[in-house]
Formats: sequence, C-alpha cells, structure tokens
Amino acid sequence: MSHKSELIFRYFDQTRNLYGNQLFLEAQIASDPVQNLDSLESFNASICNCLKCELGHTRSNFVFGVGNPNADIVFVGEAPGEKEDLIGEPFVGRAGKLLDKILAAINLSREDIYICNVIKCRPPKNRDPLPREVELCEPYLKTQLSLIKPKLIVALGRIAACTILRTKEPLKNLRNKTFKYEGIDLVVTYHPAALLRNPNFKIPAWEDFQMIRDKYLIQD
Ligand code: SF4
Repeated sequence: MSHKSELIFRYFDQTRNLYGNQLFLEAQIASDPVQNLDSLESFNASICNCLKCELGHTRSNFVFGVGNPNADIVFVGEAPGEKEDLIGEPFVGRAGKLLDKILAAINLSREDIYICNVIKCRPPKNRDPLPREVELCEPYLKTQLSLIKPKLIVALGRIAACTILRTKEPLKNLRNKTFKYEGIDLVVTYHPAALLRNPNFKIPAWEDFQMIRDKYLIQD
C-alpha cells in the first residue's frame, strides 16, 4: 500500500472512531470551498463555512484571524481554544490579555500585527490537531500569509511550531533560531498560556520579544 493510501485509511479510521458513521459520511461529501483570493476579508468570507474536516462539525465558530491585513509580523498559534471558539477570535481570554501586554512592552498593539492559528476550528477538548486536520487546514494559513506578506512569522508555542516546521523538537531547541516558512522568516517563542502556567518562562519569552523588536521593528 502506498504512503498516501495508508494516510487515507488512517484518516477514515480516526474519523469513524471519533465521530461515528454519520459525521464520517458527511465529512466525505464535504468539498473544498471556492476560495476568493481578492483580499483577506473576501478569503475569510469564502472559507468561513468550511467543512473539509470533522472539526467543522463540532466548532461553535470558525476562527479566521484578526489584525492588520498589511502587518509586518504575523503571530501563529496552534488552534482555537474554548473562548476563541465561542467568540470567533484568536487569543482572547487571559492568554490573549497577556499577549497584549507583551506586545505593548515592545510598542506594538493588535492593530499593528496579525494573529491567527494553523487550524481554524477548535479541536474537541483542546486535543492536539490530527495530521489529517493539519493537512487540510494549513493551506488556509499559507494563503493568509501570501495575502499579508509579512516580514516575520512568530510561532507561539511548541505545538504550533512543531506543526508548521514538521518537527518533534522541544521548544527550547527551537528558540533563538530563524527558520523559513513559505519563504518568510519564522521564530519560535512560548505560548502566552504557557507563561501563565509557568512564570519561569517569562524571562526567556521576554528575551525572544526583545530580539523580535531589535531585529524586525527598530529601523535605522
Ligand atoms: S479545521 Fe480547517 S479544514 Fe477543518 S473544517 Fe475547520 S477550516 Fe475546514
């Protein structure tokens, strides 16, 4: 059996086990939405009813992303959490407020940046996204980046970074390095929720944001 066939069979099994036969069958007939690439807004409108994977059947809201459509910096998390799913916006709640404070410390606000997730619909109980869900949803992130054309992507947290970079390295091995994603510089730092859980991460996270400020925001 080819690698592709194996992936398809594995997906069918995962979907059946997780959602039962009815949703499994619905997922099979859901097709790729016709995408309007004229602007970020029209792209959002064209894909917001996406049902390409099973997460479309369990979400409360599709969470596209918010911020400046011409931002130089795009922050990317893993997937919407409970509050994001309810409100339809990424990084709300305590973690979002902490991110706002960190941004303010390097003279940025949400109006200056763009923020989104790799996966646009909440995985049930905040489980990690399945490979199949990443495979189907990541092209939306790539299109968002092609429309925004940022100078820098900041991956927030290990899961976002490992998903984007196709690695299993621990976060500490991914910090202080510059990667490329879709031809754009990408750096990795802690997810703000991790800083709330473990205040010891605040100092290294602050170092990361200072590096971002010095390398990408301070012009000669
Ligand atoms: S997670 Fe992505 S691919 Fe799956 S239904 Fe939502 S938007 Fe579509």
